[in-house]
Amino acid sequence: MATSLVLGIESTAHTASVGIASPGRDGRFRVLSNRSAVWRPPEGGIHPREAANAHAEALPGLIREALGEAKVTARALSAVAFAQGPGLGPCLRTGASAARALALTAGVPLVGVNHCVAHLEVGRATLACEDPVLLYASGGNTQVIAFAGGRYRVFGETLDIGIGNMLDKFGREAGLPFPAGPAIEELASRGSELLPLPYSVKGMDVAYSGMLTAALQLRRDGAGMEDIAFSIQEVAFAMLVEVAERAMAHVGRDELLLGGGVAANARLVEMAEVMARERGASSFVPERRLCVDNGAMIAVLGAMMLGAGVTTPVGESAVRQRFRTDEVEVSWR
Ligand code: AMP
Ligand code: MG
Repeated sequence: MATSLVLGIESTAHTASVGIASPGRDGRFRVLSNRSAVWRPPEGGIHPREAANAHAEALPGLIREALGEAKVTARALSAVAFAQGPGLGPCLRTGASAARALALTAGVPLVGVNHCVAHLEVGRATLACEDPVLLYASGGNTQVIAFAGGRYRVFGETLDIGIGNMLDKFGREAGLPFPAGPAIEELASRGSELLPLPYSVKGMDVAYSGMLTAALQLRRDGAGMEDIAFSIQEVAFAMLVEVAERAMAHVGRDELLLGGGVAANARLVEMAEVMARERGASSFVPERRLCVDNGAMIAVLGAMMLGAGVTTPVGESAVRQRFRTDEVEVSWR
């Protein structure tokens, strides 16, 4: 197969991003560019329509920049991939429209990809892991995913809000800048006392809204922000690592891969490494720009699917807000 060059568009939530990827000779993939614009709510949480409007304004420029950074023209592309779901309807539709327009202009096929699977595949494509269990911890999503029986399956997930969402909501109430994850990490590094917070693991699933309520109550009761942040991290991350470990034992894997914006947290990375080491396994973390939502991971999965002959006719390119990880037919591995 001639070397393919796939442009990927991400727009599932806050982030509009365009990346370009190409398969290398060693079976790994090269990321040639990755340009992002993150929409930040002026106050409160994400407003899907406003985020989508911002993405519509940002995407043409991001496409130009991504092509420029990769030093290619739209005519050189083999396909245009886009995140078909899961995500917020207006945001998804904006990215899908941009992808359709670009694919039609360039005369190349579309490839609709699953956002969660892209978080996993970008790790396999760029790191030395072959068949990991993915701990995907981001704003809206928190899932433990592994390949089993020909599909990517969700072994555990949040029953309410994503872990990043919990951090951001706590931060908003506590007056921290958005997104709050980095500020909480910084505060936690100065905390030391483990305050009581609910450890909610139910079977293989986790829940975070009770922790949010309890952490806000601790604050009202006068506990120090450093200790609250420290305690949130210790308890919230221990829950994730416990479920990831059980998934590894269940499917018999010796590789753990982190993904999602919360994987930028050094304490989570450390806890994952300790767990992996204690079971004779390895832990992998993609570079930060490939952990957060990004267009390059969409391009990488698009290139894998294109290599397996999978494309998406325009008539089947409608977005899927509730696109489940285990609905994806995996024909590329
Ligand atoms: P994503 O949804 O994957 O783009 O990731 C965004 C989420 O990652 C937000 O909820 C952030 O608060 C969170 N995040 C970013 N950096 C950190 C960090 N250093 N520690 C914890 N959470 C983080
Ligand atoms: Mg994500």
